[in-house]
Amino acid sequence: MQMRLKLFHEARAPLANGHRRDTLLLLSDEEFETNHGFIQWAFPTSQPSQNPTNAPVLDLDSAVWLAEKDDVARFLEDMTTRFLEFLKRSDHWKQKYNHNHLRVSRALESIRTLHSYELAKWFHETVLKLAGESVSNLETANEHWLPKVSPVHDRIAGAFLGLAIGDALGAPVEFQRRGSFTPVSTYQSGGKFKLPEGAWTDDTAMALALATSLIESKGFEAEDVLQKFSNWLGLGHFTSTGTAVGVGQNTLRTLGDYRRKGTLRAEPFGKKNDGNGSLMRLCPVPCFYSADPKKAAAISDEQSRTTHASDIAAEACQFLSHLLSNLLNGQNYHDAKKKALESEWSYPLLSAVDHSFSGYSDVGISSGGYVLDTLQAALWAVENGETFREIVLLAANLGDDADTTAAVAGQIAGAMHGLSSIDHDLKLDLAKERQLYVTSQFLSSP
Ligand code: MG
Ligand code: MG
Repeated sequence: MQMRLKLFHEARAPLANGHRRDTLLLLSDEEFETNHGFIQWAFPTSQPSQNPTNAPVLDLDSAVWLAEKDDVARFLEDMTTRFLEFLKRSDHWKQKYNHNHLRVSRALESIRTLHSYELAKWFHETVLKLAGESVSNLETANEHWLPKVSPVHDRIAGAFLGLAIGDALGAPVEFQRRGSFTPVSTYQSGGKFKLPEGAWTDDTAMALALATSLIESKGFEAEDVLQKFSNWLGLGHFTSTGTAVGVGQNTLRTLGDYRRKGTLRAEPFGKKNDGNGSLMRLCPVPCFYSADPKKAAAISDEQSRTTHASDIAAEACQFLSHLLSNLLNGQNYHDAKKKALESEWSYPLLSAVDHSFSGYSDVGISSGGYVLDTLQAALWAVENGETFREIVLLAANLGDDADTTAAVAGQIAGAMHGLSSIDHDLKLDLAKERQLYVTSQFLSSP
């Protein structure tokens, strides 16, 4: 955690090149132009600054801490407006090369990570509008700006929060037989774990642990992933309520093996190896490796084998990874599924997924804990719902392993639609929404 960022925001310490947080908003246009070294405080990012080199560098913990505070969100909004006022009243930045172009890049990255994709996009569009006829001078600058506001960031956030939203919607009816409960239409409290509205279970907690590990280790490290899974189970880290809930038998046993013997690859155990526990938490992998779908699929297989000694679970993870990678990179669902099917797959996997489910009733769709059932049920929901909400509710209302089926459907639907298209209430009332959002943006490369 960057203590200096905390002191700057909480204790109002004069750290931004002599300025306190509140006085930054009062800088004259001249000071805004000539005072180097305040912008890194107003708009911190994970990229170290060349000048000044002692500027704060945003780490995941600090980013979550900042994003959870309403006054920081308001400050970011005010600074965004202040920056635009400065640009509106001056012309020198409309030249081909100007130091303010770097500042715009930094602001875009920071606003998107700590606030929202929507605010970053609006800032970018307004900057281009303010450039007016000089916009052609800014071609090179815009090449640096565009990747900061690429829709891929919104789709990554959609996949990751989509998983959590599905989990939270399905949790109250997990273990209940289809048709035996009032259909779910929004968050509700209750279920086997007596969770409050919007709280999620092991599916999201393990995804958050996996995501945090990928970010902190800058890639996949089986031991770190298993340590974080153990911290979830033993210490309640990464949970929505402080307590780990929903652990499956297989995961419980493999995490025990890891703690006692340091086992990094799960060993076979009875008939429980082919469960959906490695599929439900998958999307951080294709999100982190969105630029390299082949690597994403290979790591998806590896992450599965940390807790599941099952070829079919690993293969299901590879298939979902291909599908998510294609969606994150902008393909529509039809093309993304078609392309994912082009790889070589076993007969059981193909017979579960290589169908058009559109218009089919849920008769014959199982929503239990077997990995291929979960994958198939999620595809069935995706192909029978129009909006994100319809898709995750179709999945949750299948009952049985409802949270996990909806978590997998939510990953796919979120990658298709992007977080910005998900209904406001589903985001607003989701437990730890800010932590999940910021983590998704650290998964997504700048
Ligand atoms: Mg669960
Ligand atoms: Mg479940």
